[in-house]
Amino acid sequence: MKLINEKSAKLFEKAKTLMPGGVNSPVRSFKSVGGIPHFMEKGDGPYVFDVDGNRFLDFTASWGPLILGHSHPKIKDAIINAVEKGTTFGTPTKRENVLAQMVIDAVPSIEKVRFVNSGTEATMSAVRLARGYTNRDLIIKFEGCYHGHSDAFLSNAGSGLATFDQPSSPGIPMAVVESTITIPYNDINAARQVFKINPETIAAIILEPIPGNMGVVSPNSGFLQGLRDLCTENGSILIFDEVISGFRVTHGGAQELFNVMPDLTTLGKIIGGGLPVGAYGGKAEIMACISPEGPVYQAGTLSGNPISMAGGIATLTELNTDELYDRLEKLSKYFADELRKVANEINVSVKVNQFGSMIGLFFSDSDINNFNDVANSGIDTYNSLHRYLLKNNIYFPPSAYETFFVSTEHTKKHIDEVINVFKGFGRTLD
Ligand code: PMP
Repeated sequence: MKLINEKSAKLFEKAKTLMPGGVNSPVRSFKSVGGIPHFMEKGDGPYVFDVDGNRFLDFTASWGPLILGHSHPKIKDAIINAVEKGTTFGTPTKRENVLAQMVIDAVPSIEKVRFVNSGTEATMSAVRLARGYTNRDLIIKFEGCYHGHSDAFLSNAGSGLATFDQPSSPGIPMAVVESTITIPYNDINAARQVFKINPETIAAIILEPIPGNMGVVSPNSGFLQGLRDLCTENGSILIFDEVISGFRVTHGGAQELFNVMPDLTTLGKIIGGGLPVGAYGGKAEIMACISPEGPVYQAGTLSGNPISMAGGIATLTELNTDELYDRLEKLSKYFADELRKVANEINVSVKVNQFGSMIGLFFSDSDINNFNDVANSGIDTYNSLHRYLLKNNIYFPPSAYETFFVSTEHTKKHIDEVINVFKGFGRTLD
């Protein structure tokens, strides 16, 4: 079947003259998977529709926020109602109390929360808070975890555990990343060693408790608790970046799933129902250091704006049932099991990691524990799969390093449709 994308192609040509790479966020450009990005016009339930009139069964979910699918009627109504009363006041509003209460009730370790406008702002602010609270500078992060694009996170591991990071992008001062140490995910011994080499100087460990930015990687048994113990023993802050996993894997996020409590948690995506939002929260005693209660400065003109709050409240209201998460878990498990089964039938080696409605697919016969394992899996094969799925009107994330998401709008029939196409793809690999 020939995919028609003439209008997208024309728009992309024009966009490239207006915006760097034609996009406002790099992965959208299809640079890693090849081809021309589809310019979307509309979303409805499990589907997105592009400007050429193609309909795609969507598993990207705008990179995570749309756990209830596209254009959910209750979220739409809530946003429209809010807009009718004004878009922003720059004052406190009741909706902020409502959403804050919902987040505090749902996420076990959060006692107080601050809303911001993106996941990047949330992680950047959480690290500042951890540094301010501990009066220390160093942070430990893990290779393959993504925490947004603020300076402190755009770094790669140095040449050994004793060395500090190198900038991973031009424009990042060495002086900033000298306070970041990056180690392999799931390597608790590396974390122990970093603490040994740098006694009483580590402000925080930040990680995705279920990484979703190198496909989906599983934290090994004891890894999260090991980090919790290290932080407790050394007076450092444990930050779980749950921008993806929050309200996604269960109502209370990965911390509830694994019963390991961080000191601070960052959230984003789902808690705005598709509008720009982020949040960080945690122990009241630590949050008390944030301005105006305490000395650590952080602010925002549109933070807690009524439209994002309305989107978040409507979304979290819908999500407040175990039945919904059970259904998502069952359907996603079925998806993961079927992918493994079909891959086996057609003799393709895959590893599939699934937590709730987050799924990662790797073309590899070895276990996937960290970024190195992901990078050595069949990235080219994923890229071919992406193009094959698109031709069959299925929209997966345009990068092998991303998660695909099941939403409440997907049914077994939709999953079977993908599995059928996946079978066809497997035959092209012979
Ligand atoms: N943390 C994680 C775990 C993320 O996945 C992302 C975005 N994909 C961010 C932080 C940054 O969020 P944003 O793009 O909203 O700035």
